[in-house]
Amino acid sequence: MSVAVTPPALRSFHSGRSAGWPPRPRVVMSVRSSNTVSAAPILIKLQRDCATPLPVLRHVADAMAADMRAGLEVDGGSDLKMILSYVDALPTGNEKGLFYALDLGGTNFRVLRVQLGGKDERVVETEFEQVSIPQELMFGTSEELFDFIASGLEKFAQKEAGNFCLPKGRTRELGFTFSFPVKQTSIDSGILIKWTKGFAVSGTAGKDVVACLNEAMKRQGLNMRVSALVNDTVGTLAGARYWDDDVMVAVILGTGTNACYVERIDAIPKLHGPNSKSGRTIVNTEWGAFSNGLPLTEFDIEMDAESINPGEQIFEKTISGMYLGEIVRRVLLKMAEDARLFGDCDPEKLRMPFSLRTPDICAMQQDSSKDFEVVGSILHDVTGVSSDLIARKIVVDVCDTIAKRGGRLAGAGIVGILQKMEDDSRGLVFGKRTVVAMDGGLYEHYPQYRSYLQDAVTELLGPEISKNIVIEHSKDGSGIGAALLAATNSMYQH
Ligand code: ADP
Ligand code: MG
Repeated sequence: MSVAVTPPALRSFHSGRSAGWPPRPRVVMSVRSSNTVSAAPILIKLQRDCATPLPVLRHVADAMAADMRAGLEVDGGSDLKMILSYVDALPTGNEKGLFYALDLGGTNFRVLRVQLGGKDERVVETEFEQVSIPQELMFGTSEELFDFIASGLEKFAQKEAGNFCLPKGRTRELGFTFSFPVKQTSIDSGILIKWTKGFAVSGTAGKDVVACLNEAMKRQGLNMRVSALVNDTVGTLAGARYWDDDVMVAVILGTGTNACYVERIDAIPKLHGPNSKSGRTIVNTEWGAFSNGLPLTEFDIEMDAESINPGEQIFEKTISGMYLGEIVRRVLLKMAEDARLFGDCDPEKLRMPFSLRTPDICAMQQDSSKDFEVVGSILHDVTGVSSDLIARKIVVDVCDTIAKRGGRLAGAGIVGILQKMEDDSRGLVFGKRTVVAMDGGLYEHYPQYRSYLQDAVTELLGPEISKNIVIEHSKDGSGIGAALLAATNSMYQH
């Protein structure tokens, strides 16, 4: 459901208590009339500042393509780092054998094993486990953290049975998905630039994280080595490509956002090393850092200024799950304080940064009841305010405005990547079926966001070309993707 942010909806703000008034007493606590007459101009200004008409989308797509080129030219050439993944052999479907994957990207780590059976049997069996990382290890030493992970891997490997089979005398091989900033130096080595996301482990920055893990596995007596170090977008692309040869781009829209794509080696001037056999490689754009020409509001600017990384990751702060709820919270707080949107309620909880989360705004947008009961109870439970029907309608319009801008800008970013690839290869992207593999909780759970994203892609490409561009949800493909990359980079193939 989408509540139109159009004159008819606004008219009801001005006419005051229109249809549906008074709201049911059981969901309305002690609400005095909300001052929706003065909240309406805040909403109208928000909608104007967040607008993404076709020329804005076009500008974002063009700027994304231009920034990609500049980042490929030279390191530091643009907002986009355009990191070389060293993945130049993509899964074909012929991979065979037992492979492991480890995903370290947040408060948990996931381990997975897969038995691959080649073209006919494909994935014979998979098993995975998730282990949460004790808080103290996030602040401990590098050795403590990697020993903990290696011991988790060792316990998991001990349970290898049934269809899982390691040929005698072989070492187990692992694809390592590591979602922290790394300066990759080869497919199986990468220097940690810095920990993020709450990790503050001493002694890892500046070290090769693959060596750290290999050494810990050795200390543990575990017969396993890292064959591929991969970013989660790269894992998603590889995982999706295994099933579909037309996958050329992967995008993550979750807590944060990122995208990677298949690039031609001869289109990467900054690459001086040995050429890849395939003539192609996956480039990790780190597109969250994009910032050119985005329609930003006072709320975005304040949120950025108060963030732990001001001036950085502006695209991420406009389109990704960590921030959409927070932007809405800031708008609602202004409406509460300046326009008494929630009557005389003190919006105390609404003053707490990040108290309103993206799943909350998503849930409010799904409310199709006549009197927006769900909106009322979420507002009450999460922010402590009471609301009348008119206030709830405004809240839904605010959520819709922020989700719409986010989804449409994400769509424009995707078109920017496709446009860059098309310009270098005339017809090889737009002239045939091309798949964008998509993963992440935001894309998965927010239907309005998803359809705004698709709308923008269709508007930008037109009805004919957009028929060729398939955006496909590839849920949790990155784990299998990492195991597949361990297979394509197996030491036993050379
Ligand atoms: P991560 O990005 O941390 O690897 P996910 O891909 O699972 O993890 O994405 C989690 C993010 O997805 C959350 O931070 C949230 O922003 C968003 N999300 C999760 N559930 C929902 C939901 N129901 N509606 C909208 N967004 C959601
Ligand atoms: Mg993730």
